[in-house]
Amino acid sequence: MSSKVRVRFAPSPTGPLHIGGVRTALYNYLFAKKHGGDFVLRIEDTDQNRYVEGAEDYIIESLNWCGIPFDEGPGKEKGFGPYRQSERKDKYRDFAEKLIESGNAYYAFDTSDELDAHRKDHEEKGKTFIYNWHNREKLKNSISLSQDEVQQKLENDEDYVIRFKSPKDEILHLKDVIRGDMEIDTNILDDKVLFKSDGMPTYHLANIVDDHLMKITHVIRGEEWLPSLALHYMLYRAFGWNAPEFAHLPLILKPQGKGKLSKRDGEKMGFPVFPLEWKDPKTDDISAGYREEGYFPEAVVNMLAFLGWNPGTEQEFFKLEELTKTFELERV
Ligand code: GLU
Repeated sequence: MSSKVRVRFAPSPTGPLHIGGVRTALYNYLFAKKHGGDFVLRIEDTDQNRYVEGAEDYIIESLNWCGIPFDEGPGKEKGFGPYRQSERKDKYRDFAEKLIESGNAYYAFDTSDELDAHRKDHEEKGKTFIYNWHNREKLKNSISLSQDEVQQKLENDEDYVIRFKSPKDEILHLKDVIRGDMEIDTNILDDKVLFKSDGMPTYHLANIVDDHLMKITHVIRGEEWLPSLALHYMLYRAFGWNAPEFAHLPLILKPQGKGKLSKRDGEKMGFPVFPLEWKDPKTDDISAGYREEGYFPEAVVNMLAFLGWNPGTEQEFFKLEELTKTFELERV
């Protein structure tokens, strides 16, 4: 590896940190320390509707309790910060505009009634509506507008979003350290929104811009983000940036593999799915945590390390320093 390894854990403060998230943080930490690199904590709080009071503090306290220290993040500001996306807002808009200038994105002024009508029209024909510029004869309020018309609408303060213009007739080759090589036909992708009408970037834009600006070399995250990988590759290319390496971790599932492990599954089986007790700020409901149930953080860390990875030896208990020496992404 030529440049210094830099990884990040990028939770959204939408509720308590699930043990699946703690495991993602742990694997990132182990990978960084094994390679003498940095582990960054970035709070992705651009979705104001899903923001939950107290969640950020809970995330930080959980990582502290588990003994997974981050090198940079809120409260540990370095040159790459600030590490809360809501405090970096201005950067994202500039990058969205750069994509418009280079022809890789466009303004879309479609109203929700227009979008509903497209969907309905397709449903009646038994098809799914894919919003992309290949259908541009239908998208009268976006890609087919002239520059003057766009200008006029912007001056009139009409609501808009900025959408990515996905390439036509191309097979993309994607790489994932865990999943291997994948191919995807760009014609099935929709032109995702990068910038929302509320003046905030979407996850995709903010995430890519920050990974680039923060010099992230390896993106290690949950498998639920695998469907976004094609878009992320295309965004890196559109900006002319090198993409980091990606590793998508298998999710922690319910018994028999039926979907993601939830709070209720834990309750039914008698173990917490949160590191610390969580009191829901809206309902005052309390969910159990490993800390309050009397588990040692080392035991929780060991359990999580082994959920999806093993060292290939008989050793059953590892100290954190031993884990950092033994851990390999390729064995996930
Ligand atoms: N904010 C995203 C999440 O909550 C981060 C996904 C990623 O790591 O790229 O999972």
